[in-house]
Amino acid sequence: MKYLKTEALVIRAQNFSEADKLLTLFTLEKGKVPAIARGACKTKSKLASSVQLFTRGDFLLYMGKTLATVSQGEIRESFHSLRYDLFNYAYGQYFCELVGRLLEEKEPCPQEYRLLLDALESMNGDTAYLEVLARSFELKLLKILGYPPYLECCLACSSQEGPLWLSFREGGLLCSRCSLRDPGAKKIPPGTLSLLTKLLSADFKALRALRMSSSQREDILSINKGLIRFNLNLGGCKSLRFLEQLGC
Ligand SMILES: [Zn+2]
Repeated sequence: MKYLKTEALVIRAQNFSEADKLLTLFTLEKGKVPAIARGACKTKSKLASSVQLFTRGDFLLYMGKTLATVSQGEIRESFHSLRYDLFNYAYGQYFCELVGRLLEEKEPCPQEYRLLLDALESMNGDTAYLEVLARSFELKLLKILGYPPYLECCLACSSQEGPLWLSFREGGLLCSRCSLRDPGAKKIPPGTLSLLTKLLSADFKALRALRMSSSQREDILSINKGLIRFNLNLGGCKSLRFLEQLGC
């Protein structure tokens, strides 16, 4: 099959030459696909609007050995508002980078696709909510990829007695006694634990009214970073550093 017709999200778009754009498409059929859109930098190009970052569209791709070529693109949703608001843009870029770095090429990942689409559709420019959305997105992505943090009770002895500790290495809670097995475990206040549970399991829409205190924001950011680093072996997202520079 040389041609592939598929729905996709543009998760990366960069100018490759004066005329061409290099893309990473997250396709519904084949997961992550690197592609080139020839002529897309020219204003008269039919492809120009359909290959912008965040666009959801129907694409006809010629599947080359290493790189696909975009033959046609039709916009379903342009996510225009995400490109023209700095905070929406920065968070959207982070979601796309995270997904792009974690997925293997050419493996269908419909759950991850749905999660990214849900996140992009939920973004509303409200920085407090965008931060909640980001922490929830990270936890839900860990869950889909098979690494949900275990937050019910101590994963070694089932005790629910506080204080509880979160072990990145073990991927969940430990009680005080069992926390000795992981010197890197982080003590977790009950309020933070209940927030983590909500962020992991509630729909994005249901989290709109959720607010985090500044210490909870810091705790959850550092917990999620630890979980992502230990379970997915991923650190140093460029777009997350950009968000930190913006004070997010
Ligand atoms: Zn225990």
